[in-house]
Amino acid sequence: MSGAAVDTRLVAEAQAMGAELTRLRHDLHRRPEVGLHLPLTQQRVLEALDGLPLEITLGRALTSVTAVLRGARPGPAVLLRGDMDGLPVTEQTDEPFRSEIDGAMQACGHDLHVAGLVGAAKLLAARREEIAGSVVLMFQPGEEGMHGARHMIEEGVLDAAGQRVVGAYGLHVSAATTPAGVVTGRPGTAMAASDQMYVTVRGRGGHGSAPHRAADPVTVAAEIVLALQTAVTRQFDAHDPVVVTVGRLAAGTVDNVIPETAELDATVRTFSRDHHAVVPERLTRVAEHVAAAHGLTAEVRYERGYPVTVNDADEAARLERVSRELLGDDGFVPAVNPIAGAEDFSYVLEQVPGAFFFLGATPPELDPATAPYNHSAFARFDDAVLPTAAAVLAGVALDRLAQG
Ligand SMILES: [Zn+2]
Repeated sequence: MSGAAVDTRLVAEAQAMGAELTRLRHDLHRRPEVGLHLPLTQQRVLEALDGLPLEITLGRALTSVTAVLRGARPGPAVLLRGDMDGLPVTEQTDEPFRSEIDGAMQACGHDLHVAGLVGAAKLLAARREEIAGSVVLMFQPGEEGMHGARHMIEEGVLDAAGQRVVGAYGLHVSAATTPAGVVTGRPGTAMAASDQMYVTVRGRGGHGSAPHRAADPVTVAAEIVLALQTAVTRQFDAHDPVVVTVGRLAAGTVDNVIPETAELDATVRTFSRDHHAVVPERLTRVAEHVAAAHGLTAEVRYERGYPVTVNDADEAARLERVSRELLGDDGFVPAVNPIAGAEDFSYVLEQVPGAFFFLGATPPELDPATAPYNHSAFARFDDAVLPTAAAVLAGVALDRLAQG
């Protein structure tokens, strides 16, 4: 680990860019785009980076922007990431810069991630002469369920500087739970893996008065719902939990007809790579065998979502130390637990050590305990955190590069 002190001038320099970063964020917020193809957003990012000494590559399968800043001297490469996409949500806030597009909103604060990363690029570019090594800036579409990070890895983002990055960092803003400007995170699991399980129970329909002449999929589906909860508590260590929620259960048309099939859909959250690896086989076995016990069959389609987001212990410690040095001791609060949401920066952290942290962005007039959270049509984020995001990202990159 580097013992060198973090350059605290980063904070004042970032503050001086506050108005410019806010303008960028508002531009992005007004015209949100969803998915892997964000042409307006990509264009706006390129405009914002214009004039900086960057080697820029655009994505092929998606509208990503990869920008490499090379320091004056050789050294390792590190990666900073900002995701760019909005959500299919119609904004309900009264912000003067609210979305102008019906059915699209930067409801997860990714507009702040872009602006923060642009700010970090400017802070780093101003220090180019002092930098030994390279910084890869990863502007990523398609975080919301579209596996954008995986596409960018396939297109070479981790080697964009001509060598594999040795550290990768990302920040995510929170519209609630944490006061504005406070960084929070933890070593190990930062966020859950999220999978989907779709089960079709196949029986034999019949008259509701004579279930022995049919094979009722409804009772079996109900048993599967409960058996999944039993599996979660009996087959997995309570200190490494698994969450299964059956969010959809559907069968039949009328009270006195036994239907042919019943369906259930579940979300499956795991918090360790070990459990993520074994959970599909165990839950599938439960569904199939409960059905078999009653002479029916269950067809299971198990789909992988994002893997577990796991922070490297040393890199998490670095992010904590840099945050405290830049923001003061109160500027960092350890996260006791992982977040049960999922994040595709997990794909990056499967390949290289790094850390993914949260930055509180609750507007000062709202209570973090009750403010609308990310993904809400009412979610609001405080622009005042933009310089903080820029300074922390730049600071952690410089700190890792100083290690050599
Ligand atoms: Zn997000």
